[in-house]
Amino acid sequence: MVKKVSKIEVPSWDYSPSLESTSHIVLKEKYDLYIDGRWVKPHSGKYFATVNPADEQKLADIAYGNALDVDKAVKAARKAYNEVWSKMPGSERAKYIYRIARLMQERAREFAVIETLDSGKTIRESRDIDVPLACNHFFYYAGWADKLEYAFPNRKIQSLGVAGQIIPWNFPLLMAAWKIAPALATGNTIVLKPAETTSLTALLLAEIIDQSGLPPGVVNIVTGYGDTGAAIVNHADVDKIAFTGSTGVGKLIQKALAGTSKKVTLELGGKSANIIFDDAPIDQAVEGIVNGIFFNQGHVCCAGSRLFVQENIAERVVEKLKQRMETLYLGNPLDKNTDIGAINSKEQLVTILKYIKIGQKEGAEMYQPVCNIPAKGYYCPPTLFINVAQSSLIAQEEIFGPVLTIQTFRTVDEVIQKANNTPFGLAAGVWTDKGSRIFNLTTKLRAGVIWANTYNKFDPTSPFGGYKESGFGREGGLHGLSAYLK
Ligand code: ADP
Repeated sequence: MVKKVSKIEVPSWDYSPSLESTSHIVLKEKYDLYIDGRWVKPHSGKYFATVNPADEQKLADIAYGNALDVDKAVKAARKAYNEVWSKMPGSERAKYIYRIARLMQERAREFAVIETLDSGKTIRESRDIDVPLACNHFFYYAGWADKLEYAFPNRKIQSLGVAGQIIPWNFPLLMAAWKIAPALATGNTIVLKPAETTSLTALLLAEIIDQSGLPPGVVNIVTGYGDTGAAIVNHADVDKIAFTGSTGVGKLIQKALAGTSKKVTLELGGKSANIIFDDAPIDQAVEGIVNGIFFNQGHVCCAGSRLFVQENIAERVVEKLKQRMETLYLGNPLDKNTDIGAINSKEQLVTILKYIKIGQKEGAEMYQPVCNIPAKGYYCPPTLFINVAQSSLIAQEEIFGPVLTIQTFRTVDEVIQKANNTPFGLAAGVWTDKGSRIFNLTTKLRAGVIWANTYNKFDPTSPFGGYKESGFGREGGLHGLSAYLK
């Protein structure tokens, strides 16, 4: 049965727009591939448009790399590995990585604005989270480059060779940093492919890498679609594949690599549980829920998309959550007041809307605050589903949008069982005043990362990765270095 959609009035107060300036941004009309320290045209001569999802305007044309371009990039990476990078002392490699980090910091505003234009994420997020964290990853791993024998005592330190890295569109620059920085620190060379809807910050990073004087061929950026990624995966001279993206593509990659000697790390989808006990600080928890699923439009693989609330406080939590949702600002991602920006692509918006329809059909109670949806661009209001059955598709499948399901529980054992009843295992959040309960849950929840009384906090020193269909291998911290060593 489809229940009535409740509507709460929008607040009467408003903010004046506070748009981030774009005057310091110079975008090229056309971007080529960055191979062997040079900008080269794609073999096919084909380019594709990258679009601003906030207003559907074209930003630039991006080179469509094919298998021949990938081969050229892998050859360049192999040569750089054999002749320069694998022989260079760690202390020298560190200087380049530091230099990249410093240059990124200097151009942080440029990175933040381009990230927002290309991905639709809010400027607040790209400015305060993506860009500083990306710089910090380079700084952190630069520090390890000459200390690998201390990081892994009694191990012979040996890099892998050429790493093929394929990244998604939800944290374009940050994912590039997660992949590139540890691979460089350990002495590997790289062929990286950004997602087709968000190539621009990886290409700006290529400019910076070029400026840093990094020897040609150490980092190569090949833009393109899924077939470009598949060409990297299937190239015979690649030693390792690091992939972040959907579980579906992750499975394809694993199949393609079965029986080869290539190493692989996969960071895939999630359906993470955010659990609130009745002794939790409720206002703080509500803020954590909003941060976990609605900021960044739910475009976070570890988004807290399944909320479990202890039954005796459920009504209060839902009411407070609805009130908070009323005050969320949806709109131009370049406006510093905006909480919810644009969905990354039309395809993704269609997927999210499909799940919202499914949720209504399945009989859950839906709530969406009244939002002024801009006429152009891809937007989705924050959406809550209450009284959701455990078996419901919206509680089982990854939606990758601002859609939250709420279920209740009575006991600790019940919530552990419900939270673990998913094919995924990327992250979880626990909100309670009791330290012992936190430790109990962290041992029993099958999730790679568990946040206590907070959500979506990242740090370069801390490993990140999943269980089950959320993938395997860890990125960040020492674990992240280990994934690039024999
Ligand atoms: P999402 O659903 O988040 O877009 P995808 O898994 O489709 O995630 O995409 C993540 C990255 O994987 C993108 O860079 C995309 O181009 C790339 N990709 C898509 N299909 C393949 C494939 N078959 N092999 C390798 N890479 C792929």
